[in-house]
Amino acid sequence: MAVVKCPDCGRDVSDSLKACPHCGRKIEKSTDLITATISIGMFIGIILFVWVSLFSSPPETPAENARKQERDKPTEAFSMAQVMIEDLLKAPSTADFAPFDYDSVQRINLTTWKVKTYVDAENSFGAKLRTWVEVTLEEDAPSQRWKCLDIRKLE
Ligand SMILES: [Zn+2]
Repeated sequence: MAVVKCPDCGRDVSDSLKACPHCGRKIEKSTDLITATISIGMFIGIILFVWVSLFSSPPETPAENARKQERDKPTEAFSMAQVMIEDLLKAPSTADFAPFDYDSVQRINLTTWKVKTYVDAENSFGAKLRTWVEVTLEEDAPSQRWKCLDIRKLE
């Protein structure tokens, strides 16, 4: 209980009363202020929650995840083929690989892929040459490790 001044008549009023006993003015209790603050806080919280729900991607189901991985497989095979080609180059630091292209990746079977791509790299004389390479590679699904089955230069 606290004694507050009535904002209308200026007389002392206990804040436990709902209204000023002198003039009938409604007394705003400090608890009302706390309630209002909590309400605003909850309101902002709900807005934030809705905002986050709307703009964050929904959690992926295992099926969606598998489908996404499947879609990324050609890209993965392609970049693994580039790593395998790079191992064979005399000057790997000079290598400029072809950009990814779905046409350059061919699926042989469930785990085997054939990548036909080119690389521009310097030869031992320092001349930049384009070499077309075909890489056959296989993914070991459980370990997700790629193995080179065949790598050959195309004339
Ligand atoms: Zn009053």
